[in-house]
Amino acid sequence: MNLNYEILVENLRKLELTRMAEILSGATEDAAKGEASYTEFLSALVDGELAARKDRGITMRTRLAGLPYIKTIEDFDFSFQPSIDKKRIKELSTLRFIANGDNLVLTGPPGVGKSHIAIGLGLKAIAAGHRVYFTTATGMVSSLLKAFQESKFEHRMKNYTSPVLLIIDEVGYLPLDRSGANLFFQLISRRYENGSIILTSNKSFTEWGEVFSDTVLASAILDRLLHHATTINIKGESYRLKEKRKAGFFNREVDSSE
Ligand code: ADP
Ligand code: MG
Repeated sequence: MNLNYEILVENLRKLELTRMAEILSGATEDAAKGEASYTEFLSALVDGELAARKDRGITMRTRLAGLPYIKTIEDFDFSFQPSIDKKRIKELSTLRFIANGDNLVLTGPPGVGKSHIAIGLGLKAIAAGHRVYFTTATGMVSSLLKAFQESKFEHRMKNYTSPVLLIIDEVGYLPLDRSGANLFFQLISRRYENGSIILTSNKSFTEWGEVFSDTVLASAILDRLLHHATTINIKGESYRLKEKRKAGFFNREVDSSE
């Protein structure tokens, strides 16, 4: 009996049913107590294996997504940022926009929660089984530029075109030169009506001509990006400043001048 059990565990491991191997002992004990039918016994093992695989998938996709930090939509304090309509974020959390291949553009000043919301929605997409990739605008452009010089452009482009959801953070913090703007346009064109983008920017759309060093290119980018898109403009105070203020980094005079 003992030997049979050991062989069974070993065989489960050979079949890479590692979770089943782990929970076999407890499930067998329960069944022996007469508390589980054959079907229930096997279901407990199979359910355990499936749950473990799902978790592994989420862990793996989270790692590959390259998120700069992990914060969920549930972590977001909507009462601090009343300019955000919670219902719209709830609707976005259903991920219907991803199923439709629509985009989301979050604009607003630094610290108001643009990246947090993008990451939170990214985590929901990961949990739902989607591949997600996070990049900053300058990170993506410099990576594509380097790949172009090394004749690896098409290959590198796949990093940005193949995920179901691409998050492009911080568009506008640093202006792009002509060649950078061109690469950015190519990426947007390829993803156009092909896969969702969440994009964050501290610049209003009227300033994008300066961001991309070219007004024609900027409007071509905006045209594609906004064709099927939700835009959310966050107006409000920086959460980072609030936290610093709470910690006493600012005195009253600085406070009132802000
Ligand atoms: P940005 O708009 O510059 O991208 P972030 O989204 O990175 O700002 O927010 C800055 C920091 O403040 C992050 O750690 C984020 O989690 C936190 N934060 C911002 N807004 C909120 C909020 N309303 N509730 C909870 N945390 C927030
Ligand atoms: Mg940010």
